Amino acid sequence: MSTQHDLIVIGAGPGGYVAAIRAAQLGLNVACIEKESALGGTCLRVGCIPSKALLESSELFEQTSGHFAERGIKLKGVELDLPQMLEQKDSTVTSLTQGVAGLFKKNKITRYEGHAQLQGGGKVVVKKGRDETIELAGTHILIATGSVPATIPNVKIDGDRVVSSTEALTFEKVPETLAVIGAGAIGLEMGTVWRRLGSKVTVLEYLDRILPGMDGELAKQALKVFKSQGLNFQLGVKVTGVKPGKKDCEISIEGQSSIKAERVLVAVGRKPNTQNLGLDTANIETDARGFIPVNDHYQTTAKGVYAIGDVIGGAMLAHKAEEEGIACVERIATGYGHVNYNAIPAIVYTSPEVASVGKTEEQLQEAGVKYKKGSFPFAANGRARAIGHTGGMVKILADEKTDRILGAHILGPHAGDLIAELAVAIEFHASAEDVARASHAHPTLAEAIKEAALAVDKRTIHI
Ligand code: NAD
Repeated sequence: MSTQHDLIVIGAGPGGYVAAIRAAQLGLNVACIEKESALGGTCLRVGCIPSKALLESSELFEQTSGHFAERGIKLKGVELDLPQMLEQKDSTVTSLTQGVAGLFKKNKITRYEGHAQLQGGGKVVVKKGRDETIELAGTHILIATGSVPATIPNVKIDGDRVVSSTEALTFEKVPETLAVIGAGAIGLEMGTVWRRLGSKVTVLEYLDRILPGMDGELAKQALKVFKSQGLNFQLGVKVTGVKPGKKDCEISIEGQSSIKAERVLVAVGRKPNTQNLGLDTANIETDARGFIPVNDHYQTTAKGVYAIGDVIGGAMLAHKAEEEGIACVERIATGYGHVNYNAIPAIVYTSPEVASVGKTEEQLQEAGVKYKKGSFPFAANGRARAIGHTGGMVKILADEKTDRILGAHILGPHAGDLIAELAVAIEFHASAEDVARASHAHPTLAEAIKEAALAVDKRTIHI
């Protein structure tokens, strides 16, 4: 006999657990299956949250190791206590994953621990250990199994010398040298953490630029800043293999001599996580790259089975998965649900942060859209000067005729928080003039957004 639920969610990452909570709020009887004992998925356990804890700690370490003197604060004998730094990261993760368990209880969501396998016809089995099996039946089933690190030919992630982002969060000792393959968000964030803690870090990137997909002008500026901070870059290089040796790993690069590094971080993207999920049995198709195709309502090729988040492709971002999860279950429960993909921000949590929402200049040019551009440097913002973070700028792109904001990009202090205003502006179809006319408190970093909006109409006040 199988236990019946209105909705079975497979995977308790930000996509799955948020969808489960929203569905429960809407009155559905919801179950969530998760194979890990801790809820929260990659993001909470081994992704966004632990990496942000290490980014914060490593930045404090770097600042106290030198940068405080210029503010008249003299510190002596600053030392790195790496085990304690890792412990603080782990306890942050534990408190948050326990928080999700608390939310499940509060919302009366039934949690099953184990590996879910689709059986077709609305049935799912949960396997735990060797012999424990539970049979469930769901009127609706939502796949939210996320993604796993990808690699490239001849590069085997062994979790020790050649690692993915997961193990790069747990090095017990600061590697003397670290090679990072890929200059995307993971490569730059984790490369920055270990550089600040003392590693000599070299980022190897196939393209001739960093941060593919983000605004080119800002990526160029960011590259300059990261280089000045001590990150080494080799752009336009194709890594063709990694051989871990006794002391160092040997990294082969097409058309040039190989380089050596104590450890190698492979950050070349992620792939959909659908292993042993029973997709064939349930008649669920995947595309050539293994992603699950869905229609506008997140329905897969099997009736009653939906999919959201990294496993369906698109931007691999926790908040994108959350929006999709909510839209999907709202559609199931109320008949309406929608995601505005143009208003989903993307942030890289380096220092300075890089944040982006809507279209880049490259995308607008490619689509032949005529636009106006307004930018404002943080160097001309009073608060940025006071806090000593003057690098970077805000850039707003607006439709040439209607003035509607089409894209916004920020490189600078707290860019990740600042971009929220512009995501709301895009969501509300605001014009650059709308943002420019809104009062922004003084002295704040957000004034740089107002000034960039004024710059669209060529009337900045402070430059
Ligand atoms: P990515 O796709 O962002 O970047 C991978 C990079 O590796 C690309 O620039 C690519 O050109 C390069 N590359 C591929 N093959 C190569 C080779 N043979 N030699 C050299 N370079 C090569 O991937 P990522 O940084 O691993 O991140 C994975 C996913 O997780 C992304 O979708 C990312 O957006 C997401 N993520 C986001 C955040 C964030 O929002 N802050 C943080 C972590 C991860």
